[in-house]
Amino acid sequence: MADTPQETLANLLSEDRTFPPSPEFTQAANVTAAAYDEAAADRLAFWEAQARRLDWSKDWDRVLDWDNPPFAKWFTGGELNVSANCLDRHVANGLGDRVAIHFEGEPGDTRAVTYAELLDEVKRAANALTDLGVEAGDRVVIYMPMIPEAAVAMLACARIGAPHSVVFGGFSAAALSSRIDDAGAKLVICADGGFRKGKAFALKPTVDEALESCPSVEQVLVVTRTGQEVAWNDRDVKWEDAVGGASNEHEAQPFDAEHPLFILYTSGTTGKPKGILHTSGGYLTQASFTHHAVFDLKPETDVYWCTADIGWVTGHSYIVYGPMSNGATQVMYEGTPDTPHTGRFWEIVQKYGVTILYTAPTAIRTFMKWGDDVPAKFDLSSLRVLGSVGEPINPEAWVWYREHIGGGSTPVVDTWWQTETGAIMVSPLPGVTATKPGSAQRPLPGISVDVVDEQGEAVPDGGGGFLVIREPWPSMLRTIWGDDQRFLDTYWAHFDGMYFAGDGAKKDDDGDLWLLGRVDDIMLVSGHNISTTEVESALVSHETVAEAAVVGASDPVTGQGIVAFVILRGQSESSPEHLAELRAHVAKTLGAIAKPRQVIIVAELPKTRSGKIMRRLLRDIAEDREIGDVTTLADNTVMSRIKTGLQGGKED
Ligand code: ATP
Ligand code: MG
Repeated sequence: MADTPQETLANLLSEDRTFPPSPEFTQAANVTAAAYDEAAADRLAFWEAQARRLDWSKDWDRVLDWDNPPFAKWFTGGELNVSANCLDRHVANGLGDRVAIHFEGEPGDTRAVTYAELLDEVKRAANALTDLGVEAGDRVVIYMPMIPEAAVAMLACARIGAPHSVVFGGFSAAALSSRIDDAGAKLVICADGGFRKGKAFALKPTVDEALESCPSVEQVLVVTRTGQEVAWNDRDVKWEDAVGGASNEHEAQPFDAEHPLFILYTSGTTGKPKGILHTSGGYLTQASFTHHAVFDLKPETDVYWCTADIGWVTGHSYIVYGPMSNGATQVMYEGTPDTPHTGRFWEIVQKYGVTILYTAPTAIRTFMKWGDDVPAKFDLSSLRVLGSVGEPINPEAWVWYREHIGGGSTPVVDTWWQTETGAIMVSPLPGVTATKPGSAQRPLPGISVDVVDEQGEAVPDGGGGFLVIREPWPSMLRTIWGDDQRFLDTYWAHFDGMYFAGDGAKKDDDGDLWLLGRVDDIMLVSGHNISTTEVESALVSHETVAEAAVVGASDPVTGQGIVAFVILRGQSESSPEHLAELRAHVAKTLGAIAKPRQVIIVAELPKTRSGKIMRRLLRDIAEDREIGDVTTLADNTVMSRIKTGLQGGKED
């Protein structure tokens, strides 16, 4: 593949800006540099100490059972109830009046739900599920908008030991039914609909359509959110009747640490989604610890907001299980960032005094495109930690985030992890790390991540390769639901004894980690493996560019040629000179080898429902092929719009 072994993946971009935390931040930080030493001295003892953050009904016998790798068991013999750890113990500790959720509906309706109220509702829902015949081990599919009942449904399932599988509320009937079938779900919990972009959308008809081919489902529990007309079948039960009428007395039973907590299907950026299985004790330990450490949450004073949807793993670990196990007060927002105006997020930050914000690079780049003047109209001075997740964050987007949202002073934590890892794996610690724009930097204490070459040898600082995880971690996936073989083949067959995540990465000269995109997307240009991320970041560092997606298209001369799809910032116009300037800018930033063969200006990019760029579809365009599977696209008409918009945009 590469010219030299060191160049498994070329390291082209260099970054020398760094931002150490302020002395005040460091002094008050939840986690200090000592955590790295403690974990290095005894990794299992470190995780054992973190597991003490939770209440266990029965102690474990062994921290880790790795006798049959890669099938891990953590805290074996231990018993706990996940829901009780997120709710009952806070109320028992006198925190019942603390707001758990500040709900902001898209139309502007609001609700503040305290921990006592949330517990009450979860107890009722747990009783209602039991009355409907749901038992421990039965799977429940949740298909809901971003409303408090979605969290209630998850916590009620956890409470009775029924693994949930949340399916994002924007998915089609086909996507929903294939996930229901794969999980063999007995019950579906949905809403009539939700509010998005100023309108009520429907969910219930999609469930009805999906269930035409799902024999395992016995009943459907329907929350009323919009009040729209819905068809009613014999199997349908109103949430308001079943949950509203149920008793609020419910004693949570403990479950084994390895009891399944949820199945979640991956975003489907690279193809057929995988049903990732997570269990209870290890998962909650790492979700809770990382939320405490990476966001520096002070539950008494912070107002935390994660903008992810509950349908993604980020919504599971950093809206429900991490924050609630830590007793956080958080904002939950139903809608889109531009309804009714492009300042909606900043209005919400100002209104609730949000102190910690966790969002995605796709959102940050959109805000950059909308212009600096939008956030400038709001008071964002309450913010003290900013987080990013989902894709590599381009250094310019990182700097923009810190400057325009963080007032030039808040730490920005770029957190790398996956549905499969369950919780954050690589991230700065805001009170410890001098952050570097675009780098996820270091594995968290207790986590063993490395970058290796094709032979599985660690690359030296300055080298690029494949991101691997060397040691089991508490919140790791236990398998792919119903398909152990796919679990082995997908993650454990590439490198002996190591988990391979599918992502390329490099170590810079300081040993800091940089994510370079998926290895399937890496481009081979004249014998050099070039990462899509580096070329995209070089383009985004040009003042006229808001967002870029880069692919390798087959080229008779160079093997692959680099084709860049670019969205411009604000209203800027393009011209042949401008396109040439963008190509030259990349060559100047990264070297001539990375100069795009072609730059194409587009108005939008194909993205998954979770906002990730789907490069394989752009590759189809760049190579003039029939466009591949678009079922996980957020908007499956975008590809034809991009194709028709291409004329005149080409330059070569
Ligand atoms: P599928 O596996 O079905 O293709 P997916 O990988 O998009 O879907 P997720 O588990 O939601 O599904 O996303 C995890 C991936 O997102 C990571 O493997 C990585 O490619 C990317 N990612 C997440 N956070 C970061 C980050 N901070 N920096 C770089 N990449 C990130
Ligand atoms: Mg993946």
